[in-house]
Amino acid sequence: MAKYTDAKCRICRREGCKLFLKGDRCFSEKCAQERRPYAPGQHGRARKKVSEYAVQLREKQKTRRTYGILERQFRGYFEKAEMQKGVTGTNLLVILERRLDNVVYRLGFANSRNQARQLVRHGIFTLNGHKVTIPSLQVKVGDTIEVPEKNRKIPVLAEAQEVIARRGCPGWLESDGAAFKGTVKALPQRDDIQFPVNEQLIVELYSK
Ligand code: SF4
Repeated sequence: MAKYTDAKCRICRREGCKLFLKGDRCFSEKCAQERRPYAPGQHGRARKKVSEYAVQLREKQKTRRTYGILERQFRGYFEKAEMQKGVTGTNLLVILERRLDNVVYRLGFANSRNQARQLVRHGIFTLNGHKVTIPSLQVKVGDTIEVPEKNRKIPVLAEAQEVIARRGCPGWLESDGAAFKGTVKALPQRDDIQFPVNEQLIVELYSK
């Protein structure tokens, strides 16, 4: 599978906002987007005329990169969202939020979605009592994500309670850091997705 290997902070600087791709560093003064809030590269500070297409493209790229998804899979999610009832843009965001790696991140078991994906791939968690290794798995209401006893010594997992205290847990999830457990209470709603995105621009881009 293709993989992005360049500096992650360049992505934030390209999108012009913090995407929180590097865990604790994103909350520190070392954050590159705060220190150098302009696009990377030689012409990063140059004034450019921005077309409507460019605005839509950036919105799509920002969303895709926030969740760490490649273009083909993201397009697949959009097609799935289009087929569902309701507003396509909202459906798309809900599908992205329901990914298992995102849920692990939201529950505080990882510092970034990237780290969450790696932990899931390594089979650190169980879903409803069964070992899972698929980060893209869609969680359902009532699902329980747990860290089995033998994996609880991994430092990042032991810090889950602190992370949740700092970052907060969205209302549609219930996190019990002390018990190394999280539950999906409900499906996420548009208001639960605080990340600044105008999903309508993505719909317009893909509808061309
Ligand atoms: Fe983005 Fe985090 Fe890097 Fe800041 S530290 S630029 S939020 S990845």
